[in-house]
Amino acid sequence: MEIIRIPRVMQDTCKRYLLKGRSIGFVPTMGALHEGHMSLVKRARMENDISAVSIFVNPAQFGPSEDLEKYPRDIDNDIKKLRGQEVDILFLPDNALMYPKGFSTYIHVDRISEKLCGSFRPGHFRGVATVVAKLLNIASPTRAYFGQKDFQQTVVIRRMAKDLDLDVEIVVCPTIREQDGLAMSSRNLYLDSEQRKAATILYRCLSHASEAVLSGANSPAKTGELMREMLGGEPLITKIEYASVYDAATLDETDRVGGEVLLAVAVRMGNVRLIDNVLVNL
Ligand code: AMP
Repeated sequence: MEIIRIPRVMQDTCKRYLLKGRSIGFVPTMGALHEGHMSLVKRARMENDISAVSIFVNPAQFGPSEDLEKYPRDIDNDIKKLRGQEVDILFLPDNALMYPKGFSTYIHVDRISEKLCGSFRPGHFRGVATVVAKLLNIASPTRAYFGQKDFQQTVVIRRMAKDLDLDVEIVVCPTIREQDGLAMSSRNLYLDSEQRKAATILYRCLSHASEAVLSGANSPAKTGELMREMLGGEPLITKIEYASVYDAATLDETDRVGGEVLLAVAVRMGNVRLIDNVLVNL
């Protein structure tokens, strides 16, 4: 595995592969890699000639009171895991090269960036869209892989790619879960053992709610109420940021029966923020 730290070198390397007619599958991450990340990596390897992964904890997507400093970092283990999957290129840039002095261009994806997580994390998706645009310009991948776990992020990135005519296929991969249903996340490392047990409520809530709405037992609006009730019953949840049924395309709350809907939740357990979602076709 080639480890590249300099954006210009990464760009030249990727361009050389493309000129030789090789396809590139690219997986942007913030590291502390788990099976969720690795499922994207495996898919990128399977579907492309060359696989590339980036690890960059992007300061632009963290708010001032968020966990940038203590975000989990485990680069030695990450490198081992990526070598184990025979990844071709690891891009490992630093802040100074990604955001050099004078950096002043940001991408704002209107409307969908402000909903759901966006309304609780102002500026978050501006940071995400900006870094993903940079990474896509650096790696010029044929396909880029993202997890459904961060559903709103996939909607924002698809929108940006379409609006800016980016020449890349955006591939969204299913959420990988622990055996008890908890969606894998680097942030699960913050949970103490009591919180870790209680965190299974998110997927239990989503599963129960999706059955209720799919069977027709509950309307989407009623299902949202049911979700908030279930989450409200868990004493270790200190705040429900949102929990409801949304139109999967617009991310607006919906009471419409028909088409693809998103059941999504975001809660806090003390300082830890957890999100999860499922998609259902009504
Ligand atoms: P992150 O390192 O958290 O920025 O995540 C990098 C990529 O991995 C994003 O596209 C995430 O959506 C994806 N990802 C994170 N957790 C999971 C998971 N449990 N299952 C599938 N993909 C995931």
